[in-house]
Amino acid sequence: MESKVKLVVAALAALTVTTSAGAADKGAHWEYEGKAGAAHWGELAPDFAACRQGKAQSPIDIRASKAGTVAPISFDYRASSADIVNNGHTVQIDLADGGAIDVGGTSYRLVQFHFHTPSEEAFNGRRYPLVAHLVHKSDAGELAVVAVLFKKGRENAALAPVFAGLPATAGEKHTTDDDFDPASLLPEQRSYYGYTGSLTTPPCSEGVRWHILKQPVEVSPAQLAAFRKLYRMNARPVQPLNGRVVGVAP
Ligand SMILES: [Zn+2]
Repeated sequence: MESKVKLVVAALAALTVTTSAGAADKGAHWEYEGKAGAAHWGELAPDFAACRQGKAQSPIDIRASKAGTVAPISFDYRASSADIVNNGHTVQIDLADGGAIDVGGTSYRLVQFHFHTPSEEAFNGRRYPLVAHLVHKSDAGELAVVAVLFKKGRENAALAPVFAGLPATAGEKHTTDDDFDPASLLPEQRSYYGYTGSLTTPPCSEGVRWHILKQPVEVSPAQLAAFRKLYRMNARPVQPLNGRVVGVAP
């Protein structure tokens, strides 16, 4: 009898963890594949309607771009204390005060970054094995994302402190021992593809400014495997351009 009670308690504890991870999404349960997968996001909740009805969605397949239509990014990042969170859809690093970027006279504060495998961004139909999305917010509440692409190669030293202690289960959170400097993630060259799109996860809200750095950095096969052990595939399919023009900044 006692063992049965223990089992029930364990089951309830497991349920609580699942629920709290779900609650962090502030919405319906969703996944990348299957019945709650990307093809169905728009039907899962009224709040997710933009996933189906939006006309300026992300990610996109970049096949052409127009020079001179976007302003350069000025990076002003700084080392910050960081929480590494497994949120059930990706691993996200929340930064207390990671600095900001300036694009065309608007300042956007860096809030968090997270990963997708493969890269959500495609280039003539091809994707990189991994991308980091650095999510920024202006005082007016506008979102600007900088995407850093990863190609297979040497171990990425900047990722080492993050990937050393990836939280294995949804809802789990670690704090890094040392402050994390987000500038260490960036490639040398800062030229990028720019366009306006959406969040790539529900609720797929639009009006997000995308900045996809053209020069990839490297990630080792072991680092990639460590992430894929948690998330085998967490990339939304590419969405129609619907006449949007992709700009490119030198
Ligand atoms: Zn993302």
